[in-house]
Amino acid sequence: MHNRRASLAAIAGAVSVSLTLSACGGENSSEGSPKGGTIGIAMPTKASERWIADGNNVVTDLQAKGYKSKLVYGEDDPRTQVSQIENLIAQGVDALIIAAIDNKSLNNVLQQAAAAKIPVISYDRLILGTKNVDYYASFDNDQVGRLQARYIIDKLGLEHGKGPFNIELFAGSSDDNNTKYFFDGAMHLLQPYLDSKQLVVPSGQTALNQVTTLRWDGGTAQKRMDDILTKSYRSRKVDAVLSPYDGISIGVLSALKSDDYGSAGKPLPVITGQDAELASVKSILAGEQTQTVYKDTRELAEVAASMVDDVLTDQPVKVNDTSTYNNGVKTVPAYLLQPTSVDKTNYEVALVAGGYYTDAELK
Ligand code: BGC
Repeated sequence: MHNRRASLAAIAGAVSVSLTLSACGGENSSEGSPKGGTIGIAMPTKASERWIADGNNVVTDLQAKGYKSKLVYGEDDPRTQVSQIENLIAQGVDALIIAAIDNKSLNNVLQQAAAAKIPVISYDRLILGTKNVDYYASFDNDQVGRLQARYIIDKLGLEHGKGPFNIELFAGSSDDNNTKYFFDGAMHLLQPYLDSKQLVVPSGQTALNQVTTLRWDGGTAQKRMDDILTKSYRSRKVDAVLSPYDGISIGVLSALKSDDYGSAGKPLPVITGQDAELASVKSILAGEQTQTVYKDTRELAEVAASMVDDVLTDQPVKVNDTSTYNNGVKTVPAYLLQPTSVDKTNYEVALVAGGYYTDAELK
């Protein structure tokens, strides 16, 4: 598409290998798109705080680098997102930053972007099945799942031989590429304990396609948990729930509370999450949800804005992973940030000291 020559300059760091891809010769960048251009930003939904923060942060970071933005939200409807991106292309944006709703529905519209020589950054969620995606900005998604599993393992004392415990597994939306990374990352650590029967899944639902939650919807997760409690827990109690996202955790908690969990003699299970959303951090402080995985979306926005700036000004684009994220057509050069496990014991350091929330917001 943009016919960029990728040259790798490997700089070995102590912990990770940092690679720099040179985006030279970009037709778009050298000809019509200097500083001052307009960047189209397509975000998935306003139903979750994190995407609102992501959108605002990307706009602010682009502005600081001298760009205007057009920010749209797709209301979790893939067709809406496709037509929003078509509109952005028609309006002549200089680059696109896209957090996909359905990772496979963007092939045609990205063909249009390529024809118009518009570079595309896949934001947080990898877009699949197309060569027309230039860079990927995200977190180490496998590590997100591992942090959730590690938390459950530590809290239940599985490494000390404790058990058996009852666990139920939840995963994200089947059309989000991150879902399998989160789930596989978690199961990589949990599977040995399922094999040793220290962990038991009374519902029997352990395969990814049995545990996904379309569009990450908390209500859908609540209903599934309700069904599981009715069918599989008449004479048992839930000890842990692997939840991939705070909105799902809140849904699961509602189902548990309707079944008297959290009352005397029936403690709530260990329940994980992701995104450090305000409602979930408050729930953690109130002793309900147990853990979340914090991903500093300010950093992610900054990475994406820098990628755009570098591409459009023919600078080397900073990436640190050139092997993990194959989208079925190509391996997309990526910059991956590190997630952090947060619970009651470290939220002050992780979230408040870092300025993500103020103490007053968490009251
Ligand atoms: C993101 C998560 C988020 C989920 C639901 C995923 O693609 O990586 O941070 O919890 O979508 O919005």
